[in-house]
Amino acid sequence: MKPWDRTLVDMPGVATHCPYCALQCGMELRPAPAKARPDQVEVAPRAAGGRRAALCQKGWTAAELLSSPERLRTPLVRPSRGAALRPATWGEALGMVATGIARAQEQSGPGAVAVLGGGGLTNEKAYALGKFARTVLRTPNIDYNGRFCMSSAAAAGNRAFGLDRGLPFPMADIAEADTVLLVGSNVAETMPPFLRFLTAERPGDGGLIVVDPRRTETAARARLHLQLTPGTDLALALGLLHIAIVEGYVDREYVESRTTGFADVRPIAMTYWPERVERLTGVPVAEQHEAVRLLAHAGRAMVLTARGAEQHAKGVDTVSAFVNLALALGLPGTPGSGYGCLTGQGNGQGGREHGQKSDQLPGYRSIEDPDARAHVAAVWGVDPDSIPGRGPSATELLDALGRPEGPRALLVFGTNPVVSAPAAGRVEERLASLDLLVVADLVLSETAALADVVLPSAQWAEEDGTMTNLEGRVIRRHRLRPPPAQVRTDLEILAGLARALGHDAAIDTDPEVVFGELGRASAGGVADYAGISYDRIDTEDGLFWPCPDADHPGTPRMFLDGFATPDRRARFVPVDHRPAVEDIDAAYPVYLTTGRVRAQYQSGAQTRRVPTLAAAAPRAFVELHPALAERHGIEDGDDVRVVSRRGSAVAPARLTESIRVDTVFMPFHWSGAGRANTLTNPALDPTSRMPEFKVCAVRLELVA
Ligand code: SF4
Repeated sequence: MKPWDRTLVDMPGVATHCPYCALQCGMELRPAPAKARPDQVEVAPRAAGGRRAALCQKGWTAAELLSSPERLRTPLVRPSRGAALRPATWGEALGMVATGIARAQEQSGPGAVAVLGGGGLTNEKAYALGKFARTVLRTPNIDYNGRFCMSSAAAAGNRAFGLDRGLPFPMADIAEADTVLLVGSNVAETMPPFLRFLTAERPGDGGLIVVDPRRTETAARARLHLQLTPGTDLALALGLLHIAIVEGYVDREYVESRTTGFADVRPIAMTYWPERVERLTGVPVAEQHEAVRLLAHAGRAMVLTARGAEQHAKGVDTVSAFVNLALALGLPGTPGSGYGCLTGQGNGQGGREHGQKSDQLPGYRSIEDPDARAHVAAVWGVDPDSIPGRGPSATELLDALGRPEGPRALLVFGTNPVVSAPAAGRVEERLASLDLLVVADLVLSETAALADVVLPSAQWAEEDGTMTNLEGRVIRRHRLRPPPAQVRTDLEILAGLARALGHDAAIDTDPEVVFGELGRASAGGVADYAGISYDRIDTEDGLFWPCPDADHPGTPRMFLDGFATPDRRARFVPVDHRPAVEDIDAAYPVYLTTGRVRAQYQSGAQTRRVPTLAAAAPRAFVELHPALAERHGIEDGDDVRVVSRRGSAVAPARLTESIRVDTVFMPFHWSGAGRANTLTNPALDPTSRMPEFKVCAVRLELVA
């Protein structure tokens, strides 16, 4: 037995998973043997979910935040506008929140209070937050930061397959595919242990194809890198489908027996000649042909999309175009092949299934479906008519704050929009216009620093719960130790708030009880968790949803017998290319694209406070091509001002030939002068309401 094959059985400590990304690598936590600090915790990688033990740098250092001097250890309140935050008791803090909520709702109705959740919350917390908003606050104004990272793929999956599960197959299947087309993901940095599935030995004439404007570490390992112009992924997908049609690679039997709508898609694709696509995308004709040949000749092939394809004002159509390509080649629902989306946030999958999204009820039910409302209302013990309707998406919600018809109070759980939302300067203005801002978090994030009341939340090692990883496997988070005395779990915070608002029994504080209730609320829904229990997760190494009853084995592979549509066929969706909302011009002649780096996670609120990670990636930077730098007189390390129509950011230049000459890249983990999201475009996809993070027009200035 190799060290990485050890399981919890032969290890002391608590079996849990990393608190960060959707890979949810298994880890073991144990109190450190008496070292300098008695409160230290040791992390060890743990084999879990059929994967060998492996962690990236973020996982190895995750426990450092548990004893960090920067973690919040007591509630904070701001006695008056302009005053500094000061420590308070829970009674005072919750009383202040309850008074503010009551005042806002008295003046302007239930919708005067809004809630913003996060894709890192456990399933139990996401469920409880949705229930709290609908039954205690009675507000329609709840959404979550998954709008910033997952909603386009979710919408495209729903309209093609009738169901959205990021990967509808175990991730181990990816290693078995002969060819993988990966669109817009740099897993070598964002989730390094995943890379082994992509770079696994592939016996045939296949390989990894990466679509990305940058030659990232992932792209550098690919057999073929399609280095397209930002914002043109949709044109590329149409061009690849064109070649598949013309070269006779369409799986006609599959298309006829398992799909509908190809006749509507074909004429659009036929107008995307390879030469036209080369003009639009910058991807040479020969490379387009090679990509299709590799996919079509593979015995097993997969198309995977991620944020690079999704974070556009046409993100849903872009993902649909890649799904259309996969369908034309007969991949989805075929053993060993398929289409999938790589979810980003820790519980990006489960977080979008249980009711913190503005249009959803638990079980991935629509809040506008009368049957769904009746089912969930029965579980909640409320009148179906009392459940509010659909609310605005996260970006629209943030934009409405403090306006005459907008919410006057906002409760934030597990997200940091001052860093992560598009046009973040505008978000700060909206937050400042509120009567009451309440933030529950582990640390004083940039959003918490603006709040009137800050509620200290427990960290992942201090709570039980479940997460749903990127392959749809529901896994357990086990508590190692209780939180510090004045720190509470989010369930305890929500229960306390509910009590302060006169709803004593609305929210249970026991995660296992909440999970049982979530299972009943999800029963019969698309994401059916009714048959999943804590015991089963522990003994069966996680369970894939849907799992409708206690005897059901879960569903690792979906769509093999049919899709989740009324006629069991997948749907081609006709989509056409359109330019980025903001194309480059004389005033703003360079594309900006944004993303992540290895040592930081999302808004960086946690990882920037881990000394090892802060040392590895201490600040933002502007990555640009030497030829572009030369035109501006910029040298490596010079401070560069990047200016968009929303504002400007300053960060040191990092010169590399691995990026297109018309494009600069900035990571989005930092606040202050280097905040990339000061620049990004809040233009929204019409269906998913996802912002266009991945492309906007900027100009560069050398800072003297
Ligand atoms: S890849 Fe993701 S889940 Fe795994 S250790 Fe790194 S951050 Fe954690």
